[in-house]
Amino acid sequence: MSRSFSADQYSGVIDSHFHTQSMLQRGMDVFSLFDDLFCARFAGGIDIGCVHDDLPERTELLKNYPAILLSGAMGPWEAGLSETKKTDIEVEFSKTKSMEDLQAELGVLRENLLKYKARFIGEIGLDYYWEYGNHEKQSFLFETQMRWASEMGLCVLIHDRDADEDVADAIRRLGPSKGGVIHCFDGSESVLKIALERGYFISFAGNLTFKGNSDLREMLKRIPLDRLLLETDAPYLTPVPLRGKINSPEKIIHTYECASEVLGLDLDRLKDIVLANFRNLCSR
Ligand SMILES: [Zn+2]
Repeated sequence: MSRSFSADQYSGVIDSHFHTQSMLQRGMDVFSLFDDLFCARFAGGIDIGCVHDDLPERTELLKNYPAILLSGAMGPWEAGLSETKKTDIEVEFSKTKSMEDLQAELGVLRENLLKYKARFIGEIGLDYYWEYGNHEKQSFLFETQMRWASEMGLCVLIHDRDADEDVADAIRRLGPSKGGVIHCFDGSESVLKIALERGYFISFAGNLTFKGNSDLREMLKRIPLDRLLLETDAPYLTPVPLRGKINSPEKIIHTYECASEVLGLDLDRLKDIVLANFRNLCSR
């Protein structure tokens, strides 16, 4: 069955953060979804890298979608990913990798970032909720890639879960001059402060719509409009009213609607603002 999206709804809409491979692994027909969305003048977004060697395959998968830009990175989960090669982040992270393995994988990633001309380095960061590997190795990965971003002149896409102070500190010490995006912003004051000072964009995901997240909605009102981005983080964090389903980029519309209501902004105006911000990020 073919679905069609209306251009009234999707024209100029972006999704600043999603994982195509993880949607494919869940059996989703991602390409016909993208085709239908682009027919409705969806404006694209960023397909996010998760592991050190996923850029060649992702580049091939998305070669017919020029409005989908690619980032590449080793996320914090790579500090503890098991030996079995998997590209989904919901796997076992019991083992902490040796420094030799991390160095070798960083070497592969670095070559791929250059060879495949990744537009961003991300997602990178710290995750003390899942405690992948250990803090030292997570921070080694994060800081190495922050330095690369400065050296390569790229923006970073930052993941922070329960590691606010250390993430804020790394941005302060090592953040590239072009800045980047705080992805799936969760309301951290310390990260927000340094991120705004340094010109980062703040991206809200589907959890903005969750009933219990009224504090996050209050926080949204404090973000300067020229720094605001929206994302799905698909296949994760499906927005209300679709919770329980696998997330995908077209569901971003519910997050736009929620943000438009919270901000008291006309939905079309919000689409224009977010699109302008996304273009600003891409042109840095
Ligand atoms: Zn993500």
